[in-house]
Amino acid sequence: MLHRWLFGFAALLAAAPAAAQAPAQTQERLPIIDTHVHYSQPAWGVHNPEAVFKAFDAAGVSCALISSSPDEGTLALQRAAPNRVVPILRPYREGVTSSNWFADAATPAYLEERLNQRPYKGIGEFHLFNEAAASTPVVRKVIEMAVARDIVVHVHSGVGPVRVLLATDPRLKVFWAHAGMSESPDTVAEILGRNTRVMTEVSFRAGSIGGDGGIDPAWRTLFLRYTDRIMIGTDTYVTSRWDDYGRLIDEHRRWLAHLPRPAAEAIAWRNAQRLFGACEGRQLTN
Ligand SMILES: [Zn+2]
Repeated sequence: MLHRWLFGFAALLAAAPAAAQAPAQTQERLPIIDTHVHYSQPAWGVHNPEAVFKAFDAAGVSCALISSSPDEGTLALQRAAPNRVVPILRPYREGVTSSNWFADAATPAYLEERLNQRPYKGIGEFHLFNEAAASTPVVRKVIEMAVARDIVVHVHSGVGPVRVLLATDPRLKVFWAHAGMSESPDTVAEILGRNTRVMTEVSFRAGSIGGDGGIDPAWRTLFLRYTDRIMIGTDTYVTSRWDDYGRLIDEHRRWLAHLPRPAAEAIAWRNAQRLFGACEGRQLTN
């Protein structure tokens, strides 16, 4: 009995230094601004706004760019914590989805009406599956609206539709979701190099960037070359990703740790703050 007690005491002593270090490590966590959050209808009954902000707090996320299908989800979060939400307006709504929004003649009027009501910082995230979808009259009107208001379009597409958008109006600010999802760092570099109004976020790319626990050299080169126009995101496009939220943020923190601290801070939060006014008036915490 005594032996067991002594053994337990020794184990406690051995564990003590690690426990004492934990708060210090927590304090060093990079603050994060998540630039790709959705709070769409299926999530509303599972995670209320309070639970969403608790998930942000636990993950060390200060604020986020948020869009939702339908838009009411974004507005509910904004009401709950105005200085943690940068609203982005999706064209998706009842009967209008990723597969038909760009051909829906009512889309521009729907967007215009809402853009007139509050200061959204972008239109999106929307999907463009090919060049033809990026070339419709509806998309041309959306481009006009974004340029007139000097806000971004947050677009989920391969490189082809991005080329069409930029050719349609080089003044357009393109926020390229997922760095093209399956495009290579070289292709992303080509697009960022072509037009200084293009920026990108790397939600869904953490496996490719830092899969082995380090950082892929081609991605690292991209990050150091275009440090000021790259951001991170989680993309909570299905409710299950809210359950996984902390891990989704941590997988970005892991590869960010392999960059020089100024570059890591730029990509983790400073770019989103500068480019979108995210966390305005808010003390950034980790
Ligand atoms: Zn997406």
